[in-house]
Amino acid sequence: MMQTLGYYDGKYDEIDKMVVPFDDRSHYYGDGVYDATCAGNHVIFNLDEHVDRFFNSAALLKIEIPHTKQEVKDILNEMVKKVDGDELFVYWQVTRAVAPRNHVFPEGQKGRLWVMIRPSKIGDPSKTLKLMTVEDTRFLHCNIKTLNLIPNCMAMQQAVEAGCDEVVFHRGDRVTECAHSNVHILKDGALKTAPCDNLILPGITRAHRIAQCKAMGIPVIEEPFTVQEMMEADEIFFTSASALCCRIEEIDGQKVGGRDPERIARIQKAAWNEALEEVRQIKG
Ligand code: PLP
Repeated sequence: MMQTLGYYDGKYDEIDKMVVPFDDRSHYYGDGVYDATCAGNHVIFNLDEHVDRFFNSAALLKIEIPHTKQEVKDILNEMVKKVDGDELFVYWQVTRAVAPRNHVFPEGQKGRLWVMIRPSKIGDPSKTLKLMTVEDTRFLHCNIKTLNLIPNCMAMQQAVEAGCDEVVFHRGDRVTECAHSNVHILKDGALKTAPCDNLILPGITRAHRIAQCKAMGIPVIEEPFTVQEMMEADEIFFTSASALCCRIEEIDGQKVGGRDPERIARIQKAAWNEALEEVRQIKG
């Protein structure tokens, strides 16, 4: 068993021993896309959906992934078995090419696949989190999971310096998403969440929580909501592959939510049961 495992274009090693070519276009332009999820007991969660989104992101940037979807899944599934740890972070990306710096795409090249796998913890559902609002100054292609995350990093650093766990981005009044998760509210018994347009990443975990709410008879409204609506919501939570469903108790120093504890607890329970079930089913 290894402590971590990296992959670049056919080569494997511990991540801190990996070396990649200087001219990989990710270095100059962040010219690539990625996807990421968790593994529990060496089973990767929602792999099909994450790989589908990965291919979709690459296609939107005209990046050619040098493998089929099945080959990417096979590489990830093989790698995840070799790393020690009950809970692992599974990250992969494709960069356009290795070529001298030039804005125009080099001809006749396929992308380079990178993978990194290391131990990590899935978000603890019993923890309630503090957030801060930040104006969303990202570009208008947030539906594509590109490597360009500088505004997200700037915002997260600001949040941590202010003693917060995440940020809520908003464009004017409209809430978009968090720096690395989707944000949702409960109001009058319904789930409200931003629609999947170019301003948010179509979260896989978001889609799962929506499907579960519908199955539990909780109405789902996929419409934009404002910062004020969020501050006055009955409950607020965020979702991502590594934080299945986390409650938010404070935003910008104000207490928020806490008015529909029974419903949010049901959503959290459903999220964890689904993850456990997935591990059990694949393990047989
Ligand atoms: N939004 C952003 C900006 C993200 O980076 C992520 C996850 O990386 C998400 C939302 C949540 O997506 P998912 O549930 O597929 O992990």
